[in-house]
Amino acid sequence: MAMDTVREPARDIPVIDEVEVLVCGGGPAGTAAAIAAGRAGAKTMLLERYGCLGGLATGGLVIVLPTFTRDGHQVIGGIGQETLEALIEAGEAEYRSERGSSRFDPEGLKRLSDEMSVEAGVLLRFHSWVVGVFGEEGRPAGVIVESKAGREAVRAKTIIDCTGDGDLAARAGASFMTDDKMIGLPYRIGNVDLERWSEARNDGTAAEVHKAAHEIAGYESHFGLSPFPLNPGVAWGNNHMARGNFLDPDELTRMEIRGRRSAKLVLDYMRENMPGFEEAWLIDTAWQIGVRCTRRIVGLQEMLYEEFKAGAQFDDSVALGNDFRKPSIVYEIPLGSLIPDGIGGMLIAGRCVSSDAEAMEALREIHCCWTMGEAAGVAAALAVERDCEPSEVPISDLRGRLLAENAVIDLPPRAADD
Ligand SMILES: Cc1cc2nc3c(=O)[nH]c(=O)nc-3n(C[C@H](O)[C@H](O)[C@H](O)COP(=O)(O)OP(=O)(O)OC[C@H]3O[C@@H](n4cnc5c(N)ncnc54)[C@H](O)[C@@H]3O)c2cc1C
Repeated sequence: MAMDTVREPARDIPVIDEVEVLVCGGGPAGTAAAIAAGRAGAKTMLLERYGCLGGLATGGLVIVLPTFTRDGHQVIGGIGQETLEALIEAGEAEYRSERGSSRFDPEGLKRLSDEMSVEAGVLLRFHSWVVGVFGEEGRPAGVIVESKAGREAVRAKTIIDCTGDGDLAARAGASFMTDDKMIGLPYRIGNVDLERWSEARNDGTAAEVHKAAHEIAGYESHFGLSPFPLNPGVAWGNNHMARGNFLDPDELTRMEIRGRRSAKLVLDYMRENMPGFEEAWLIDTAWQIGVRCTRRIVGLQEMLYEEFKAGAQFDDSVALGNDFRKPSIVYEIPLGSLIPDGIGGMLIAGRCVSSDAEAMEALREIHCCWTMGEAAGVAAALAVERDCEPSEVPISDLRGRLLAENAVIDLPPRAADD
């Protein structure tokens, strides 16, 4: 609650660039969107508040990917599959089982994302907070950005909001619903004797220690600590700390403090009690706190989990996803869910798209953010090319271009159909 108000004087802001596609936020969705738009030939800029790409997948230390296939059929293709293959090729990712889930090194993803974006001709600008939009009501003509250089503006024909929280769509006046999903602060513990820890897990002694560490840390629900053999001697901790309003910086601050304290409590307890952890040390806690979902923007079409389960198909399907909790649930993502209702010249991708809360639980994973981002990027480039609104792009052209880039956009047959 504000104590008071002050009047900020009106001022002219320098326009630093004019682009065709402007992607705001460089997480998995934003990175894929910018690469896709750049490859499609649009003059594309990506603005990111921190110093690297990847969002929660790098800065949030979320380094595990669900499977990309169902019954041997590819579900996640395009830029997502290309990224995973390039990481595996570089020794920076590995499958946990044959074509199953995989894990990756966040440093590898940071570097690869830079390279792929630069190769696609994307104008990257880090350390730039997007703080508002300008233009006509309901039809932004660009964004306002704050950085060490001051307050600046970028004009854009089409904007893609990939901030995770739907910051721009909300500022442009889009309606939204909010979620208070569990926040977490992942971390990595190094110098673990993975063999001795594995023996303790196999003979059952680890379970009690883990349970006690969970209680001491004060995590409200899930606490996972798993070996990360890609980086020898490393264990990865994931957790569900608490619910709250994670658009509130005071609440985020409390969670940062609590998360780091919990990580230290876990480390100390494990060093004392868990075989293999005697000489362990905390490598890092995520420097981007793990917000699972805040705003769900109301789009032209809302994705519904019941429809995911029923295998609903859409004429304007532009991407697929699967539910990490039950990967046999594969679903189509319609273009309408990536367009905020009532806002022109804008698309949304990632963990703020138009969906019910349960559908978002399935959609928000990294691999689905890649597919949604790619679809939004190609749609934005096509809208610029055709000089039309994203909602008016010819669907057959859009789908054709996505297929040409190896994206998978239609439900694969079930094993029984083969
Ligand atoms: C603790 C935790 C564990 C998870 N575990 C898994 C898992 O095992 N596997 C999996 O696939 N997924 C997992 N997820 C989900 C997944 O990591 C995220 O949902 C996914 O990264 C979302 O991608 P995104 O691009 O939509 O948003 P984000 O990854 O949040 O990226 C948004 C980007 O926008 C930038 N940004 C935000 N606001 C602004 C602004 N105003 N101006 C400029 N830049 C801005 C941010 O800095 C960030 O880089 C987990 C999430 C959490 C929190």
